[in-house]
Amino acid sequence: MGVRPARGEPGDRQVTVFEKVFGGAPEGVWAAPGRVNLIGEHTDYNDGFVMPFALPHTTVATVARRDDGLLRLHSADMPGGIVELRLDELTPGRDDGWASYPAGVVWALREAGYLLTGADIHYESTVPTGAGLSSSAALEVVTALALDDLHELGLERPAMALLCQRAENVYVGAPTGIMDQTASACCTAGHALFVDTRDGSQRQVPFDLAAEGMRLLVVDTRVKHAHSDGSYAERRAGCEAGAAALGVPALRDIPYDGLAAALDRLRAGGQDETILGLVRHIVTENHRVEQVIELLDAGRTRDIGAVLTAGHVSLRDDFRISCAELDLVVDTANSSGALGARMTGGGFGGSAIVLADTDAAEKITEAVVSAFAAAGHREPRVFTAVPSAGARRL
Ligand code: ADP
Ligand code: MG
Repeated sequence: MGVRPARGEPGDRQVTVFEKVFGGAPEGVWAAPGRVNLIGEHTDYNDGFVMPFALPHTTVATVARRDDGLLRLHSADMPGGIVELRLDELTPGRDDGWASYPAGVVWALREAGYLLTGADIHYESTVPTGAGLSSSAALEVVTALALDDLHELGLERPAMALLCQRAENVYVGAPTGIMDQTASACCTAGHALFVDTRDGSQRQVPFDLAAEGMRLLVVDTRVKHAHSDGSYAERRAGCEAGAAALGVPALRDIPYDGLAAALDRLRAGGQDETILGLVRHIVTENHRVEQVIELLDAGRTRDIGAVLTAGHVSLRDDFRISCAELDLVVDTANSSGALGARMTGGGFGGSAIVLADTDAAEKITEAVVSAFAAAGHREPRVFTAVPSAGARRL
């Protein structure tokens, strides 16, 4: 422990900032990435399949242990200076703003029986916040990894992800699935990560677009419509109601070839079209994850484009969580030569992804930017997402 990054190496600058903020030397620097989800949307709270990959954008934590039971947190990305908390006063439901995310991780670790003694942590991030790219999971996972390393807790990555999810669900009070934390903790460079969220089993699926002359663009619409939180809870409850009406533990249990029969049963039972749409999305989306894996395994990467677009149509028409800006990205990209596109993340704003041939990417980007200007929307942020490494020590 206590190895400082060499001058000019990644993490070196953060060490200098840490010393200025806390007035002592850190013991190390850790990074955890944001993610985009390639396919498998809203399936993670239905025991289904997801397939995210890690972004090159990371949240970096520079950390030193303390032995006096204090947790002092500082973020370069948030105003307000140092947030100071006592470990023994951490309880779910406390509102410490952004600091609730890392405080929740410390709480979850202690709840699980791990002995912590306090820490000073400085954060800096290149993950856009609130853009559906999971800055919250990056913040949680980098905290868990740093404390795991420093205290030699020996946590496996999937277990670390579960503790971080618990921090977000119970401590922060945001009812999210397990995908984001798993992606940040477990992804590897050059791969998308298939996760069966029922049993937690994983598979690293090679996903190297550059080698095949393609790119995946992320278009951050920079909008987040106000009703997004309530809608998430509503969709979640609707999915649970659908599963209950069908007599299964989760919608994951409805196989793709049993969809028509399931919908007939729901109709006969008097369920309305809203529930039918939710069920149809989850069942077809799990199938789309399987299709994408099959295509990637068969070396038919270009063909996943059509599956991505079908996923968007399903989120728009059946799950009903798209919005004008996300639809505009998808429609404009597809009519400008993209191989496929879809909204990604929670919906009602955030980001969309676009699969494109490398030499078409610029033209598509320009088309999307001008379509946004013409529609009077704020200029979107567009970047190429290269599948990158999961959480690590720098
Ligand atoms: P997303 O995870 O899609 O970016 P969330 O609403 O789940 O959006 O999480 C964003 C919140 O996470 C921010 O409002 C802030 O409270 C916290 N957060 C994320 N990154 C940082 C950071 N670098 N420093 C401090 N807080 C952060
Ligand atoms: Mg989040």
